Amino acid sequence: AGQLPKPPRRRVITVANQKGGVGKTTTTVNIAAGLALHGIRVLVVDLDPQGNASTALGIDHRAAGIDSVYELLLGEANLTEATQKCPSQENLYCIPATLDLAGAEIELVSLVARENRLRNALDDARLDALGIDYVLIDCPPSLGLLTVNAMVAANEVLIPIQCEYYALEGVGQLLRNIELVQAHLNPHLHVSTILLTMYDGRTKLADQVAEEVRRHFGPKVLNTIIPRSVKVSEAPGYGMTIIEYDPGSRGAMSYLDAAREIAERAFAITRTR
Ligand code: ADP
Ligand code: MG
Repeated sequence: AGQLPKPPRRRVITVANQKGGVGKTTTTVNIAAGLALHGIRVLVVDLDPQGNASTALGIDHRAAGIDSVYELLLGEANLTEATQKCPSQENLYCIPATLDLAGAEIELVSLVARENRLRNALDDARLDALGIDYVLIDCPPSLGLLTVNAMVAANEVLIPIQCEYYALEGVGQLLRNIELVQAHLNPHLHVSTILLTMYDGRTKLADQVAEEVRRHFGPKVLNTIIPRSVKVSEAPGYGMTIIEYDPGSRGAMSYLDAAREIAERAFAITRTR
C-alpha cells in the first residue's frame, strides 16, 4: 500500500449527524482504517454509549475495569491509560466507550468546564508520544453535551449523509449547532467534509439526493460515494473494519478512496496557503 501524506498538523475530526443510522460509526472506523493502512496513525474516540465503533475495531469494551472515554471525560484516567491499540491493524488506536457513558451526558452537567472535558483530555504531549496524526471522534445520534464536547475538541466536522428520503432533515439544525459552538466555544470549528453514504445506484432517488447535497455543499462533498453493501454491514459483527473483512470489496475500495481524498485534500489546502 502506498503512503498517504501526513498532515503538517494533527487533524481532529468529529463525525456528526444527529440522525441515527446514517453511517457515522461505519464512516469513522473505515476512514480510520483506510488512513491507517497507508501509514497514518489514527486514534478513534468512541463517544457513543452504544460502543459500536469500539466493537467494529475489535476492542473489548465490556470487560470490567477498563479505562474508557467515560473515565477520560471525568478525569479519572488520562489519554495514555484510556487508549488501546486495535488488535488487528497497525497504526490504529481506540479510546473505547462503555455503557457508563450513557450517564455521562447528565453527570457532565455539574462539572467545571463541562464542554471542554474532551478537548482538555486530548493532551497534545500524550498524542505526540503515541505519534497520532488524526483523531476521529464518533458521535452519538444527538446534539447533547457529548456531541458538544466532540465539537469543542475538533477543528473539523465530517457529516455523513445517507442517500435516502429526508437525507437533509436535521442537517440544518446540526449546522446551526456548529455555528453556536463556533461563536461561543471553538472558533476553529468548520465543516470540512461531507460524505454520501449507503448509495443505491438502482434508485433514482439516490442520485437526486446526491445532486441536492452537492448543490448545497459544493466542493466539501467528497467525489467518492459509499455504496450500500451487505458486506459493509457484516464486518462489525466480526470485530473488523470492511478493509480487513473484505479488502477487495466495493465497500472497502470506496472507503479507501474516501480516506485518500480526505488526506490529500488537507495536503492541498495547507500547501496553497
Ligand atoms: P450511525 O453511527 O450513524 O448510527 P451506522 O454506521 O451504525 O450509523 O450505520 C447504521 C447501520 O447501517 C448499521 O447497521 C451499519 O452496519 C449499516 N451500514 C452503514 N453503512 C452501510 C453501507 N454502506 N452499506 C450497508 N449497510 C451500511
Ligand atoms: Mg453510531
